Amino acid sequence: MKATYKKETLPDPAYEGETYDNYTLKRNVEFCCDAFKNYCKKFTGWSYDYGKFGIVDQITYEGHSVPLIDFCPFCGENIEYEDIDKPKKTRKKKK
Ligand SMILES: [Zn+2]
Repeated sequence: MKATYKKETLPDPAYEGETYDNYTLKRNVEFCCDAFKNYCKKFTGWSYDYGKFGIVDQITYEGHSVPLIDFCPFCGENIEYEDIDKPKKTRKKKK
C-alpha cells in the first residue's frame, strides 16, 4: 500500500523561533487490508511527528512507545511512504 503525506514545517508553540515538522496523512489512502484500515480507525495509527504508521504496543507514564512500521502488521504488505510535494518518480530521464 502507499501512504501519501504532506510535510509541513510549523512554528513550535513551545519554543519561540523554533519549528517542528508535521506530517499529515492524505485521506485517500488505500489500505492494503481491512484489518489495518479498521485499526487506523480505532487507534491513531499515523504518527504526525514522523510521517509513518506506528503501532501502539504499550502506554506508560513516561509516554507511549510507538514502534514505526514499514510493513502492515496484519497482512505483511510493504508500506510505501511518499511525500506529496516530493514524489519519488517525477524525474524521468529524457532520451
Ligand atoms: Zn494489510
